[in-house]
Parts: sequence; structure tokens; C-alpha cells
Amino acid sequence: MSPATASAEPAGGRPNILFIYTDDHSAAAVGCYGSRINETPHLDRIGREGMRFDNAFCTNGICAPCRAVVLTGTHSHVNGLMDNGDVFDGSQSTFPQLLRDGGYHTALVGKWHLKSDPTGFDHWAVLPGQGHYYNPDFITPEGTVRDEGYVTDLVTDRSIDWLEQDWDREKPFLLMCQHKAPHRSWMPGPDHLDLYDGVEIPEPPTLFDDYASRASPAREQEMEIDRHMYIHYDLKVVPTEEEAANLRGADRWIRGMRERMTPGQLAAWDAAFTDRNEAFRAAGLEGRDLVRWKYQRYIKNYLRCIASVDDNVGRLLAWLDEQGLADDTIVVYSSDQGFFLGEHGWYDKRFMYEPSLRTPLLVRWPGTVAAGGSEDALVQNLDLAQTFLEVAGVDAPDRMQGASLVPLLSGRTPGDWRDSIYYEYFEQGIHNVHPHRGVRTDRWKLIEYPGTEEWELFDLQEDPDEIRNLAGEPAHAETRGRLERELRRLQVVYGVPADS
Ligand code: CA
Repeated sequence: MSPATASAEPAGGRPNILFIYTDDHSAAAVGCYGSRINETPHLDRIGREGMRFDNAFCTNGICAPCRAVVLTGTHSHVNGLMDNGDVFDGSQSTFPQLLRDGGYHTALVGKWHLKSDPTGFDHWAVLPGQGHYYNPDFITPEGTVRDEGYVTDLVTDRSIDWLEQDWDREKPFLLMCQHKAPHRSWMPGPDHLDLYDGVEIPEPPTLFDDYASRASPAREQEMEIDRHMYIHYDLKVVPTEEEAANLRGADRWIRGMRERMTPGQLAAWDAAFTDRNEAFRAAGLEGRDLVRWKYQRYIKNYLRCIASVDDNVGRLLAWLDEQGLADDTIVVYSSDQGFFLGEHGWYDKRFMYEPSLRTPLLVRWPGTVAAGGSEDALVQNLDLAQTFLEVAGVDAPDRMQGASLVPLLSGRTPGDWRDSIYYEYFEQGIHNVHPHRGVRTDRWKLIEYPGTEEWELFDLQEDPDEIRNLAGEPAHAETRGRLERELRRLQVVYGVPADS
């Protein structure tokens, strides 16, 4: 079928679905969300030609669980993937399987992270675990192969290759293009090693947060830029011979990171970092000056990874244009969860605080979504499965717990749309974030830490940076009580086991 024919008559009148999903991309690092720190022209294009969701949230802010929520349309306590250590049960109903059964040609490329083999896909090629930035392995049904190059480019290459060589144009496609970037350890690609050189990236106002009014978990976490970031592995300071003989913790991984590169890649890497690293060593920074340097090194590498994501999103959008498929394809961009970009002095995610709870969610769907719109209804990754199914005209199983976003996308937000969201987090391992759960409304957030029987209450309108915990303040007792009842109500609605 020629591209022109495909454009005139999408198979069955149903759109193709291109889902581009990144790992740890904070909405604060997306241009059209008002980023103060970077530009993302291609992502912004999706928003400009489609809809930007301004209150999109995850349900359990860590990598693998978010992916299981997206696939199943159920909370973690229902789909069984509670934390990064669990293995996904691929026999449960997922939207890719339902779309495949419903006549879609389905493919998955890139980050998977669910330990079991993907189910529901006609084609898949996934990174093992977290995957590598340089010369990554891909697991395929035929075995594991190593591609030479930079992972964000390669995931896109493989996505386009599938579309061009394997996609059966008699069927609409579902393509899940899932990037490793910008996940730790934030290794920029060869095209962006010098981006932001000589530029000072603005610091967040809470970089030196003292957690004074917060519950104890905010102080007990191990995800501070100051105390928990590794100078070699995370921050790319090449160890001296003496340092290399005594590497500790995550720093031990820098050897494998460098050995994986080709001589040419490593030469380009060292050309970019050697002078900067020598200047850092010569400066002998301490205290807050050292934290500020770490923040700059970290955020620039993170943003360099995103620059590559943005370029590659541009490649996919250009491919749709060239093929005459843009009008027949719904394009959804999101990230598994957000990330701390120095807010509260942190990196990583997990907490129900805004920087990690919130995700970018951009949807372009010509003919249905009006260009340039924004939506402030409370939505979650929990809603994506039912959204994709409704887009495809496939019934969603009763088990699914979200709500289709199609009415919102069509400009018909229901009057009874949810006015609160439920959040749960279970993994107390790396970074030592205590398990917690909570409820968020348009203005308020209540967090419960069952292990320490502590609570946090934030007024997001008056305190968007979440530094004043109001849970113990008599003036807010009524609000706290109301939110506590709402939290318990949501636990019943979503079938949270009573003993959890
Ligand atoms: Ca993630």
C-alpha cells in the first residue's frame, strides 16, 4: 500500500498509535511545560499540535511498576508488580494484547524492565534491565544482539526499521517506543557532549532544603546530590589510578561503563570531560560550592540525554510526515514518572512529592484533539490502557481501574471526572525511601507513612514547593480529616488489601 493510500484510509478507520515513553523525564525539563532549564522543540510540537495535560501523575513512582500500570490499567497492588524486584505476570490482560487481538499490528522497542518476556507484541526488541547508553544489548525472541551506537538513537532506528520493513499496512499499528533516557547514569550521546558548556543552569529554590517540618522519611532518604551521588559513576570524574583501585558503591560500575565504549566513543567522551574534570579537581570545592558543582554536572548531563530524546522524537514525527501518516496516528509522549532535578536537594524519584509524582503527557491526534489545548483535569498513567483501547474501539476489561482520556481529548471533560488521585509506593531499598501512600486533589496532598505513623499535608496552592508540612496544624485539622477519609475511600475503590 502506498503512503498516500494509507493516509486516505487508515485500516478499519482506526488510528495508528505511537507511544513514546521515556524513563525519569521530569515535566520541569520539557519546554512546553515552562522549563527554565532546557528547550525541547520536538516535544513542544506534539503539545502545540495536540493537547498538554497539566495534571498528569503516576500511581507508584518507580520504573518497573509504572510500566506494569500502563500495560494493565491497574494499580500495583492489583497487577502484582509492586517494586523493581518483582517479575511481571505477562498472562494478565494488557492493552497491547487486547489491541493485537483486536486487529492491531503491535511492536515494542527499548526499555521494558519487567523481567519476564514481553507478551502481546508481534515484534519486540528490549533492553535487558536498565539497559546501557552506549552499544546496548537488545533481547529479541531470536536472542540477544549488541547494537553499536547510542541507545536513544538505536531505539528510534529500530522503531523506524520495524515500521518500514515489518509493519503490515493492512492493519493499524501500535508502536511502543520506550527509551532508557534520561535514566541514571545520565550519559549524554556523542551529539550532545558539549551542549551547555559554559552555561549556568538555574538551581531549584529548594536545593538546600532542611526538611524542617517534614516527616522523618524526608530526612532519612539516601538520594541527596550532596551525600549520595557518586563522583565517578554519576558525575563522570574519571578516577585516577589510585582512586580506581579503591572504587566503592556505584562508582565500581564506571569501569564497565568505559569498557563498553568503542575507542572512538571513549576518545570523544574524554575529549569532552577531561578539561572540565581537571578544572574541578583544581578548584578543591567544599560545602555548598561542591553541591552546586555537582548539581551543574548532573543537570547538564541529564538535559543532554533529553536533547537526544527530543531529536529522536523529531525523527519519528518527521517519518510520520514523510509517510503521510501524521493525520492517521495518535502520538502520545510521556515518562514513567518524574524526577528530582535538585528539588529538596535530591535526584531520583519515589516520593509522592510533585517533581516525581508529576509526568509530562502530550497527545497529538489530528481530527480529534484540537491543536494547542491544555487540560488540567487530574489524570494518571492508570488511564492510558483504557484510552488506547477506546481509541482503537476495543472494549476495556472490567478489571481496569483507570478512565479513558478520550472524552478529555475530544474537549468533553465529564462533569464527574475524578477530583482526587491515589498514590502508593512500596520499595524500601536503594535510596531508602519509606513506603507511603497518599491522596492528591487539585489543591491538597496528604501523605501517610504507615511504617512511622507519620503524615504530611501540603497546600499546593500556597506552597507549591512542598516545604511546609501542615499535618500537625490545628488550623488544617478539618482539611486533613477530609483528605484522610478520601484516602480510605480510594483504598476501598481500588481494592487495596486491608492489611497493607
Ligand atoms: Ca523511571
